[in-house]
Amino acid sequence: MTPILQVKGVTKRFGGLTANNSISFDVAEGEILSVIGPNGAGKSTLFKLIASFLRTSSGEVLFKGQRISNLAPHKVARMGVVRTFQETTIFRSMTVRENVVVAHHLRSKASLLGFFLGTSQARSDEAEFGVSADEIIGFLGMDAIRDELASNLPQGHLRALGMAIGLATNPTVLLLDEPFAGMNHDETMRMVSLVRRLRDERGVTVLLVEHDMPAVMKISDRIVVINFGEKIAEGTPAEIQSNEKVIEAYLGS
Ligand code: ADP
Ligand code: MG
Repeated sequence: MTPILQVKGVTKRFGGLTANNSISFDVAEGEILSVIGPNGAGKSTLFKLIASFLRTSSGEVLFKGQRISNLAPHKVARMGVVRTFQETTIFRSMTVRENVVVAHHLRSKASLLGFFLGTSQARSDEAEFGVSADEIIGFLGMDAIRDELASNLPQGHLRALGMAIGLATNPTVLLLDEPFAGMNHDETMRMVSLVRRLRDERGVTVLLVEHDMPAVMKISDRIVVINFGEKIAEGTPAEIQSNEKVIEAYLGS
């Protein structure tokens, strides 16, 4: 089967700094794959290249066999490759539910402008997508705060809203950059089971950058390790935990 995502020799230079150096790996459909590595290793850069928020210096990223690198990021999101967290756009003057509905429109045919102007097309979409918006809010256990203004939400709920916005765009591949950062153990475990359900119940392919190693080992089918912009290992959690290079570069520290 063709991998849903193929990262092929992707390189990113920022002036003299090589943040990603010819990184290659495949992701199978429905897989949960984590990218780990020390701070500054190039993980966020890699996710930005995959979602086409940054242009590659060389190499390419294929989604369902089609090149997506260096397309406009909104096009890539529309195709179904969606990056969330670290810099997700949340409209603070809107409620939780309004934020989710707006995110739906970003992927839908109706223009966002139509949504704000309240044109009839946008209104029928609002009805159509309203159901899903509420489903997503329920899925994330956010029913009690659906009418809260985003500006009033504590950090934990803001992260859940970031997730809701990502889901509202109906992703095929969801890129989560440090979704458990700042969460306590219970919140992390809740999020871990949520990511699992996304894959199990909705078939979403998930790429994850995360520092919480117990959570990473628990949730991942496979792990890619990068250090100084280079891929140094790839394998199952068990393989990664016993890999000498990885222990030396990262896990042992
Ligand atoms: P990670 O997410 O693994 O912590 P990043 O991908 O954020 O690492 O950063 C990798 C390296 O690239 C770092 O040295 C960082 O300072 C550098 N970097 C990231 N983004 C930029 C940028 N826009 N311009 C210049 N350097 C950058
Ligand atoms: Mg990062």
